[in-house]
Amino acid sequence: MTQHENAGTWITIGKNSTLDVPSDPTIGFIEGDGVGPDIWAASRLVLDAAVAKAYPGRKKIHWVELLAGEKAYRSTGEYLPERTLQALRQCVVAIKGPLTTPVGGGIRSVNVTLRQVLDLYACIRPIRYYPGIPSPVKHPEKVNVVIFRENTEDVYAGIEWPAGSAEAEKLTMILQDQFGVALPAESGIGIKAMSRPGTERLVRRAIQYALARGLPSVTLVHKGNIMKFTEGAFREWGYKLALAEFQEQTLTEVELFEKYHGVVPTGQVVIKDRIADNMFQQALLRPEEYHVLATPNLNGDYLSDAMAAQVGGLGMSPGANIGDTCAVFEATHGSAPKYAGMDKVNPSSLILSGVMMLEHLGWTEAAECIHSGLERTIAEKIVTYDLARQMGGAREVRCSEFARAIVERLG
Ligand code: NAD
Repeated sequence: MTQHENAGTWITIGKNSTLDVPSDPTIGFIEGDGVGPDIWAASRLVLDAAVAKAYPGRKKIHWVELLAGEKAYRSTGEYLPERTLQALRQCVVAIKGPLTTPVGGGIRSVNVTLRQVLDLYACIRPIRYYPGIPSPVKHPEKVNVVIFRENTEDVYAGIEWPAGSAEAEKLTMILQDQFGVALPAESGIGIKAMSRPGTERLVRRAIQYALARGLPSVTLVHKGNIMKFTEGAFREWGYKLALAEFQEQTLTEVELFEKYHGVVPTGQVVIKDRIADNMFQQALLRPEEYHVLATPNLNGDYLSDAMAAQVGGLGMSPGANIGDTCAVFEATHGSAPKYAGMDKVNPSSLILSGVMMLEHLGWTEAAECIHSGLERTIAEKIVTYDLARQMGGAREVRCSEFARAIVERLG
């Protein structure tokens, strides 16, 4: 992107990896497929209004559109043009709508490719309850957790070959001849690799996040009882990292009960771990005991949707993909193609992803403004179809009307 096309000022990365954010930052946006254009238009309206309200005449975001997904394919013949990747690196901060990935057929997910190419290794998903939102559980207000999901490794890395391919046959032979492992005939093969550095940087961020916000625990979620050298190693490396880098500020669950009678000392974080299947149970039975979860890629994907359901579903679930040099904010849900162009779905997930983005910039006043505007709108039972159908006496509004209602109620 040339300076001519950019009316704002670039965000840069300063000393100690902190962001230098100008008052007129250039921020990239990808509209997204399916419901993307609807929820992006709604989110942009709310984000711009909140910044104008919190910092009148002093701060303003300069949005620049970056092409990806179906829109990019229509104009360039590529789903993820190199120009978009370069612009994302230059912008440092960006926000995106959901992008469609056809099931099977060999087309790689643009979402997954973005995370890998830009090394956005931490997928951060805060899950909290907004009063008034319909929920399938009795006490949704007990859920207030932030999931740190590893974003680049595990079976998601895309190291896989179809059954019958030359690569799968060759690997099958190597396993048979050199390791004495016999695979069932006609096996597709995927490789699950999880590294120590990959685990450490994710767990480091999770612990730093808990310490910065005074949260009392970080839980390592894994399936290490079965997959010992990947998921089990994730647990072991996580504990070792806490001990090596945060010894003064962290303690184990055993220490918590033996030394402190179960009460977490101020300024300290308990590091604990749970096997993934147990964690799904805990999420329903004792959600208040969990604050930050650090998970491998696949566990985190399942768990974040399941926990989001407890507080109102995918329409209320924001997310961020963060690396050391770039951050891309996006809703947890997909492109919901059957609602495309209907101005119908709930834009809260993308709006709340925008709130995370404002917090990332350090523009917390604008973020707070949106939080209270959203809370008021929901408390007045002005909601989109997904919530209206479960709430008695609600006023159902379109996606764009919901955004305007928030703008009228900004804190
Ligand atoms: P989806 O999240 O798009 O939709 C599933 C259902 O959830 C919808 O039919 C709808 O009932 C509900 N829903 C989703 N978003 C909503 C919203 N904002 N408001 C109200 N209800 C909402 O999941 P899917 O149908 O499995 O996937 C559709 C496409 O999206 C696929 O191509 C998939 O690969 C892609 N996807 C993209 C991302 C991403 O861009 N990060 C994430 C997940 C899925």
